[in-house]
Amino acid sequence: LTSGLESAWNKLKGEEVLTKENIVEPMRDIRRALLEADVSLPVVRRFVQSVSDQAVGVGLVRGVKPDQQLVKIVHDELVKLMGGEVSELVFAKSAPTVILLAGLQGVGKTTVCAKLANYLKKQGKSCMLIAGDVYRPAAIDQLVILGEQVGVPVYTEGTDVKPSEIARKGLSEAKKKNIDVVIVDTAGRLQIDKGMMDELKDVKLILNPTEVLLVVDAMTGQEAAALVTTFNLEIGITGAILTKLDGDSRGGAALSVKEVSGKPIKLVGRGERMEDLEPFYPNRMAGRILGMGDVLSFVEKAQEVMRQEDAEELQKKIMSANFDFNDFLKQTRAVAKMGSMTRVIGMIPGMAKVTPGQVREAEKNLKIMEAMIEVMTPEEREKPELLAESPERRKRVAQASGKTEHQVSQLVAQLFQMRVRMKNLMGVMEGGSIPSLSN
Ligand code: GDP
Ligand code: MG
Repeated sequence: LTSGLESAWNKLKGEEVLTKENIVEPMRDIRRALLEADVSLPVVRRFVQSVSDQAVGVGLVRGVKPDQQLVKIVHDELVKLMGGEVSELVFAKSAPTVILLAGLQGVGKTTVCAKLANYLKKQGKSCMLIAGDVYRPAAIDQLVILGEQVGVPVYTEGTDVKPSEIARKGLSEAKKKNIDVVIVDTAGRLQIDKGMMDELKDVKLILNPTEVLLVVDAMTGQEAAALVTTFNLEIGITGAILTKLDGDSRGGAALSVKEVSGKPIKLVGRGERMEDLEPFYPNRMAGRILGMGDVLSFVEKAQEVMRQEDAEELQKKIMSANFDFNDFLKQTRAVAKMGSMTRVIGMIPGMAKVTPGQVREAEKNLKIMEAMIEVMTPEEREKPELLAESPERRKRVAQASGKTEHQVSQLVAQLFQMRVRMKNLMGVMEGGSIPSLSN
């Protein structure tokens, strides 16, 4: 998916703004990339529509290129698609919390039982596993071994006991032992069948679980989303756990589950080790899919710092060579706000030659400059020439702000230098001489 999207951004290189016309090709690439990632068609359609609508209407942010802007829109839409916020596990008001795991055979249920216990144990919760897969003795042994591995007790019965009966006995055992969380493993089938569903319904009825989580294999793509939907309709689930994400390079399942089934992915498995289970963060997943973390944080910063109105106004000022102390303050503050985002600096017109060291210096000097600009009259702020021409005015500003006259002179000179630099950048060359300060 990542590589598929790359050609979408590349098609916008050299464009000035996003338009209805120039996003046609990139959107086609995005659509193709999503379909190749095995995201279901209706989801792809809605996604592409939503991104297109936003892209055309989007406001310009100074220094942000259209391809970067599109990356950001796609990212935010991916996050939304995957449910937005991380969906936390819910715990029962009075212990034990019961988590019932369901899913087809081989998707990683038994592994998840132990991984989840391991994960919750680290949060200080006591756990117990219940072996509810009675069809293969090996399944019980597997859970016992994994339980030992993570140091969590496993409740077992013989293979001749009904799963719902095991669940009932196991739960009362957990209550006796004051266990915080009970995790119940169940039997899967190769395909959905009535026997499995009925059994799950029975077990669910006995346990009244806080969480019913469907374990699905990420490598099955949009099939995973369909399964979550079916299980939800049949037995009612609270969410999904996506396993084997380490083997899935396409991302289709992660993208489709929430949108198709309405149920969130709560956890993801990224490997066979007991540590390889983590909450599902839509934000991080989107970042991973796009593989463009730096572009995203750049666009965010730039948006935050430079709202369109400000930027346009500033642009006009620069064009008309009326850049004054008010703008000076605005721009210097914006630079300071961005802090270590030195990459950004190179993209702001007029700041093109500022090095990281100079940015830090600018931050340090901002306070001093602010103090001086604050005591200027509104007239002086708008017409820096007044200060350039009058030593008396500079003296007054120096005294009122507690700075030296030399510092005030420097500030005034700096402003005129900035005017010139900006005009040069805008290609407006005439009338850009730096007035010398009269003494
Ligand atoms: P169950 O039939 O649903 O209980 O599935 P199991 O827990 O027995 O897992 C089936 C196989 O998938 C085992 O070999 C696991 O080690 C493997 N497995 C489970 N989760 C993951 C995962 O997140 N990544 C990888 N690579 N393998 C996994
Ligand atoms: Mg199993």
